[in-house]
Amino acid sequence: MKHTVVIGAGQAGASLVAKLRALGDTGAITLIGAEAVPPYQRPPLSKAYLMGDLPAERLFLRPEAYYAEQNIDLRLGQVVTAIDVAAQTVTVGGDVLAYDDLVLTTGSVPRRLPSAIGGDLGGVFTLRDLADVDAMQPYFTAGKRVAIVGGGYIGLEGAAVAAKLGLDVTVVEMAPRILQRVAAPETSDFFRDLHGAHGVKIIEATGLERLIGDGHVTAARLTDGREIAADFVMVGVGIMPATALAEAAGIALDNGIATDALGRTNVPHVWAAGDCASFPTAAGRMRLESVPNAIDQAECVAANILGADKPYVAEPWFWSDQYDIKLQIAGLNTGYDHIVTRRGEDAVSFWYYRGTQLLAVDAMNDPRAFMVAKRLLAAGKSPDAALASDPATDLKALLK
Ligand SMILES: Cc1cc2nc3c(=O)[nH]c(=O)nc-3n(C[C@H](O)[C@H](O)[C@H](O)COP(=O)(O)OP(=O)(O)OC[C@H]3O[C@@H](n4cnc5c(N)ncnc54)[C@H](O)[C@@H]3O)c2cc1C
Repeated sequence: MKHTVVIGAGQAGASLVAKLRALGDTGAITLIGAEAVPPYQRPPLSKAYLMGDLPAERLFLRPEAYYAEQNIDLRLGQVVTAIDVAAQTVTVGGDVLAYDDLVLTTGSVPRRLPSAIGGDLGGVFTLRDLADVDAMQPYFTAGKRVAIVGGGYIGLEGAAVAAKLGLDVTVVEMAPRILQRVAAPETSDFFRDLHGAHGVKIIEATGLERLIGDGHVTAARLTDGREIAADFVMVGVGIMPATALAEAAGIALDNGIATDALGRTNVPHVWAAGDCASFPTAAGRMRLESVPNAIDQAECVAANILGADKPYVAEPWFWSDQYDIKLQIAGLNTGYDHIVTRRGEDAVSFWYYRGTQLLAVDAMNDPRAFMVAKRLLAAGKSPDAALASDPATDLKALLK
């Protein structure tokens, strides 16, 4: 019987095995995950789960029983340590498993602060896994002081939860502005103001020199000499694709595990999807770190394993929740040259253009603008910027 082995029981791995079964694959399927819990959704880790509003079971993508019902061998708490691409086997614990098809859905690993600058002091946390949040959550009590290193989405979501719970919050961002890597100044300004209104101190254009503490962190010293007293530190300075296993097996990398449009790596019968995979697009090779990409790409690879021969065409979108603001992003803003703003009642959206071409939209509490933008981008349509930004324009009319 044909055997598909999937390494990494996260969003992409779980989506892939479910899709294989939904498409009628009756072969053997093994899904191997390093974490002790069934595949779960990560977005609430920095939102409702961190806030204490969601029990852990509600994070699970499917009940654990689903995998047995679908005859999927789910191996939890097990790390694949080697792939032999010539023998078509993987090593996990004491077992060597043979595969006909192998999929790498190993996700990402968070960047950590070097120990030389205090990165391994007690009370210093990254936020990637359920276990990270469970370790950090006891500190999320009113009155505690947290220094958050990195003003990206994860850091800002952590800041929002901390502020709502009554902590004293300082965010330190090395770049000239928060969200610089992912958003326009307009979006950075919006979120800076929002956090300011909730009492969060945001320090931009200032790096971390080192963390201070004797065993446990007590302060963060910044490059301008300032010291921020802290009971704990949350580090949100980005992630790297989890490629070590693939690299050791001789699988080609290019900003992640390099795949072709079908999701195949350079090694026969080895595929990749999700955060760890980079894939070709008309705009060049791309790697996306988002739930929609993990699901869509994994499902596409599942279909291709079964012979669909279907190229993956990404329709990037993303979201972030901070306080009572839901940010929804359609498209990718890379290469934009101007922005127009559309203001509504308690809502605003920023529309990114390159010339007359619409590239992306950041919509704050404006699901309608987001949905219309997503459909416009999927259809390759670019509305006139003056029309899009005019609050009098019926957004749906832009689709015609
Ligand atoms: C706190 C947080 C908030 C987020 N918020 C959003 C959001 O609002 N919107 C959004 O779109 N995206 C969000 N994301 C990103 C999104 O969760 C990821 O893009 C998505 O989980 C990627 O899925 P994946 O399956 O590729 O990787 P993962 O979900 O990371 O799964 C990979 C799994 O592989 C396992 N693994 C790795 N190597 C091995 C091995 N050798 N053996 C066995 N197992 C292995 C890992 O332990 C992990 O469980 C957020 C992420 C985090 C951490």
